[in-house]
Amino acid sequence: MTGTSPLPRQLTVAALVAALGLGCSSESASVPPELDPAAAPPPLEAADGWWREVTFYEIFVRSFADASDGPLADDGIGDLTGLIERLDYLNDGDPDTRDDLGIGAIWLMPVAESPSYHGYDVVDFYRIERDYGTNEEFRRLVGAAHRRGIRVVVDLVLNHTSSRHLWFREAREPDAPRRDWYIWSYERLGYVGPWGQPVWHQLPWWQRGWRHLNYHAYYGIFWSGMPDLNYRNPDVTAAMHEMARFWLQDMGVDGFRLDAVRHLIEDGRVQAGTPETHAWLREFLDFCKQTKPGSLLIGEVWDNTEAVAAYGPDELDLAFQFELAEAMVRATRDADRARLDEVYEKIRRLQPDRDLATFLTNHDQPRVLSQLYDDLGGARAAAGLLLTGPGTPFVYYGEELGMSGNKPDPQIRRPMQWSDARYAGFSTHRPWQQLDPGFERTHVAGQTADAASLLSLYRRLIRLRSARPALRSGAAEPVAATDPRVWALERRRGPERLLTIVNLGEEPVAGYGLEAPGGAWTVPPGARELLHGVELDPPNGALWTPLDTLEPRATYVIELSAPAAP
Ligand code: CA
Repeated sequence: MTGTSPLPRQLTVAALVAALGLGCSSESASVPPELDPAAAPPPLEAADGWWREVTFYEIFVRSFADASDGPLADDGIGDLTGLIERLDYLNDGDPDTRDDLGIGAIWLMPVAESPSYHGYDVVDFYRIERDYGTNEEFRRLVGAAHRRGIRVVVDLVLNHTSSRHLWFREAREPDAPRRDWYIWSYERLGYVGPWGQPVWHQLPWWQRGWRHLNYHAYYGIFWSGMPDLNYRNPDVTAAMHEMARFWLQDMGVDGFRLDAVRHLIEDGRVQAGTPETHAWLREFLDFCKQTKPGSLLIGEVWDNTEAVAAYGPDELDLAFQFELAEAMVRATRDADRARLDEVYEKIRRLQPDRDLATFLTNHDQPRVLSQLYDDLGGARAAAGLLLTGPGTPFVYYGEELGMSGNKPDPQIRRPMQWSDARYAGFSTHRPWQQLDPGFERTHVAGQTADAASLLSLYRRLIRLRSARPALRSGAAEPVAATDPRVWALERRRGPERLLTIVNLGEEPVAGYGLEAPGGAWTVPPGARELLHGVELDPPNGALWTPLDTLEPRATYVIELSAPAAP
């Protein structure tokens, strides 16, 4: 790597405020005190497209870190104060240190008040979950994150509320003013949901009202405890716009991850992707951009690339690429690039020029290490695919350590493993959820001390990605190889050209050739490999073997363009 950073290094107002100790919280003490502009985090300008330049980190607050101080300390439940205490792990705001991950944005799973452990059934959209802290602490978190150059995006659950939400309790009576905020039926409609689940739920007789003991049911696509809101009612849309405004302006978030967006508006048995849902999203995106310029909307459209492609940039800034996630994990497991080629071709055909949100797994899938049968080498190759590929990568907390976990869901959302202390350094109290049994071997402290660890690899890959515009947001062209175990991409932005290579296999690979995308390889003198510093063999014709041997599961990044002038 060269010593130059492409990140703009102007001093921001936020950094200045922090550096002068004008911040309203104790966080300012940990910001580098000098006024050297090089130490300032990149400015958080309010411009669309910032998400192309960052690596995201998905956090389940309940499992990330328990506070060491304050009213919620040491109760075995992660909280906002605990997260603030650990922000330096994600990004300390100083581009010159190497022991942080270099994260540029976090996505927090739901933080609003909810009766469930996961928070996807909200009872109060205007209040932080009591287990996590207060609204004031949330604002403190946003400030502390922004000072480090980390943007904050929260999960927004629009499709439904908790059945315990005041709105729903008020809507249960057939003649209640809020009745039309939810979806009711007085006849048995006899259909189920897209995955065969019941979607019409009867209230228990004691909640139906004495005049209405006959059948009437409400619609809830996920569960009886999560009644769907009725977005055909403009009052509901207005209420949710106001709620979004509250989070963007009063709480200071930089955008939303929109849960289950395909299901916002049903049309009878058509329960996903209706034209009304698309129209609603266009209006919502407009509203958010006007309310806070540069705010980001990421959508969860949990389906194949064809379905994801139906959501244009006027509806969602980013959509998660579920099929690509599956392909990256499968290509690693099978040591075969075929599935990756297939999905890349599909993405190029169906979503040309579209910003992509990429990931290996999130809080809804078995952890990547478990999908790879606990093969740590495979986790290294998968990290290479994610962090050298196109799109905005999302790292699910603990993935960088090789945390494991299979369904049921609580086991893929276990406490973060900070050290080999009694409760993994997560808390001094027994955690709300049992730790991963392997935590004593797999934790931040141990992997920080080990340059060959998975965590060290994540740090190096994210750092390189941050330093190289072509890796962050350059075009990506798959490069054909004579060996199916070898995955390669050409990344290009402006004058910068990079070649990324991942050996998907668990054996060293020699004797492979990479086909030149343009017919012949042109590699300037001085071209070099950026991650390992290994020597390159010059190209000779249309097939190139840049490195004699590709080490098992290793990732390489080769600079094909002449190094930029500093
Ligand atoms: Ca706590």
